[in-house]
Amino acid sequence: EGVPGCSQEGLPYPSNSSELVLECLQQFKVTGTQLQQIQASLLDSMEQALGGQASPASAVRMLPTYVGSIPHGTEQGDFVVLELGATGASLRVLWVTLMGTGGHRMEPRSQEFVIPPEVMLGPGQQLFDFAAHCLSEFLDALPVGKQGLQLGFSFSFPCHQTGLDRSTLISWTKGFRCSGVEGHDVVQLLRDAIKRHGAYNIDVVAVVNDTVGTMMGCEPGVGPCEVGLVVDTGTNACYMEEARHVAVLDEDRGRVCVSVEWGSFGDDGVLGPMLTIFDHALDRESLNPGAQRFEKMIGGLYLGELVRLVLVHLAQRGVLFGGCTSPALLSRGSILLEHVAEMEDPWAGAARVHALLQDLGLNVGASDVELVQYVCAAVFTRAARLCAAALAAVLSRLQHSREQQILQIAVATGGRVFEQHPSFLSILQETVMLLTPECDVSFIPSVDGGGRGVAMVTAVAARLAAHRHL
Ligand code: BGC
Repeated sequence: EGVPGCSQEGLPYPSNSSELVLECLQQFKVTGTQLQQIQASLLDSMEQALGGQASPASAVRMLPTYVGSIPHGTEQGDFVVLELGATGASLRVLWVTLMGTGGHRMEPRSQEFVIPPEVMLGPGQQLFDFAAHCLSEFLDALPVGKQGLQLGFSFSFPCHQTGLDRSTLISWTKGFRCSGVEGHDVVQLLRDAIKRHGAYNIDVVAVVNDTVGTMMGCEPGVGPCEVGLVVDTGTNACYMEEARHVAVLDEDRGRVCVSVEWGSFGDDGVLGPMLTIFDHALDRESLNPGAQRFEKMIGGLYLGELVRLVLVHLAQRGVLFGGCTSPALLSRGSILLEHVAEMEDPWAGAARVHALLQDLGLNVGASDVELVQYVCAAVFTRAARLCAAALAAVLSRLQHSREQQILQIAVATGGRVFEQHPSFLSILQETVMLLTPECDVSFIPSVDGGGRGVAMVTAVAARLAAHRHL
């Protein structure tokens, strides 16, 4: 009879456990050639989608956003920003004051609300009612009137946009699956909920993806900031494309910001050989099996889960924790992004890692701490390198279409993976340099999670709407 949760053959510890762990982690190695293949195949997929070919190969969506220029810095006014979908199970409301060119930057006021799990998976109307309720709770605490408020809606899911304030959800991603929203205009759903709630008269002026908010809020640095990159619960990027290349727009002048939606890259099977047994297990257990395969290797919602699946595998083979698992380790979602960030951090100290593992009810042996750190590093490094290959595809597209020998470009970055895990950016940067030596890239972290950028787009949209009404 064995101990429950313990593998019998795993005791005593195999002497070569570190070799066995390293052998398992080998699966997470992505070679330079594989990264180049991803870069090329993603670029191909981007070009097909831009050209309007709905062939199965175009697994990225390339969604035009109706944002036509990067900010001038002259935008001003007070705006309410509602963020839904970027940071997983929370919703954020901000009050942003733009001062135009003259004034000082003012820190936005903001409040975060946790979305109850049943709301994330329930009827859409309940989700939008919850959002309207949070809005009014936030506004109640501010010295503002009930009328004439202008709102920018940051909605971080793939949407078909048909105007600055019209956007139809294609499909939920990450942890959301509310009924009655896919195929509907999310701006209208929000307007209806605000009206039902009745406390405030709020004009929903613009809807924006989080990557667009990140790009638009970027403080102009050395060069123009024409790419927005988000790695939070999910991952995606947007960039400024020549409008004439976007088949669905039928425009021959100017540029337009396109949201790549690279999370769905690989849904047609191109990632096949790179997927590990852990990626398959994670996908099978997810809310959207078969979808967002690339995102599931990079997004913060999934990194902890990947680490957990590897740890279970190794414990069950007797290589970790004396061959024992624990009910917590066996529960989906028990390892979160912040745990991985902390465990992988070489400076966090073995004691901290030890404590985290003990909190999961595990028997932590002398060599376990170091081995677990290897697991976290392997999962994180792969995520950063894959993300770099995707970014390299966007950069090479820009470099090619701008016909510049060396493309000088700034990339605005946002999301908790960057914030909580500084080495993600260094690996990303290093890999991008190898993959696109013809680009001189500077990375600029977004200051307030893209809220300011959303306000900028809202300011422009409000100005355009006022002109239309003249
Ligand atoms: C969504 C994108 C979003 C990204 C980052 C993905 O799941 O499809 O629209 O930009 O997450 O939040």
